[in-house]
Amino acid sequence: MCVAGCEEAVRAALSRRGFFKGAAVAAAGFAATSVPAPAAERVTRSFTKVVDLTHTMSEDFPTFFGKPGIEFQRQFEFRKHGFNMFWWHVIEHAGTHLDAPLHFTASGLAADKLPVDQLVVPLAVIDVVAKAEEHPDYLVSRADLALWERNHGRLPAGCCVAMHSGWGELATSDPARFVGRDVGGTMHFPGFSPEAAEWLLHQREVAGLAVDSMSLDNGPSKEFRTHRLWLPAGRWGLENVANLDQVPPAGAALVVGAPKVKDATGGLARLIALV
Ligand SMILES: [Zn+2]
Repeated sequence: MCVAGCEEAVRAALSRRGFFKGAAVAAAGFAATSVPAPAAERVTRSFTKVVDLTHTMSEDFPTFFGKPGIEFQRQFEFRKHGFNMFWWHVIEHAGTHLDAPLHFTASGLAADKLPVDQLVVPLAVIDVVAKAEEHPDYLVSRADLALWERNHGRLPAGCCVAMHSGWGELATSDPARFVGRDVGGTMHFPGFSPEAAEWLLHQREVAGLAVDSMSLDNGPSKEFRTHRLWLPAGRWGLENVANLDQVPPAGAALVVGAPKVKDATGGLARLIALV
């Protein structure tokens, strides 16, 4: 809960210091890879609305492996002990979560090593709702990215490119369709094409990819080519993103509340958009 005047003060502070300064730190974080660092965009931004892009995590939230992504074991109970506390048993890659470079590399950056300057970034939202409705295995293409740039200009340096496929709301309204598992066991949901990921990697300066489905690669993928291109290049990913229908295609900022857990390959994240 914000005290009176708090929001105005935060907004003023953000405007004063220039929201996306810090290119030097961003560059240092990528020095270990052969890939040019996404330079942070030097612009001043303010915001009037805060949007939660995070699903509530529970035992029931659909997962890639079909097992509960989190289990709760009660350790202390208020009535008996005077306070409540649970022991969590949690999968790193379930619910709204981060994929750190280490997820698909032998020695890439772990979640705790990601520079914070790369976790507060401009948000570009690619709307493919109509296409995914028609083709559940839809892959965001280079043409989709070109269309976004025609409407909104060049993708901002250091941004996160998010796929809005409409899958986000299925996670709670229709979990079976969200997973899309057919009789043969193959899953069906949209993702990013490897070609689009490769183009973003080499032609634009993008810090992260985000999807409102379960994986950066689409459901039927067996080789996870988008993961294999993207994460080893020192970039991060976000999966199971919520509420992308509540943010504009351009102009918002994303705050990635990534877990700072030693050597984590990813983990539950709180995603907040400043609009
Ligand atoms: Zn993941």
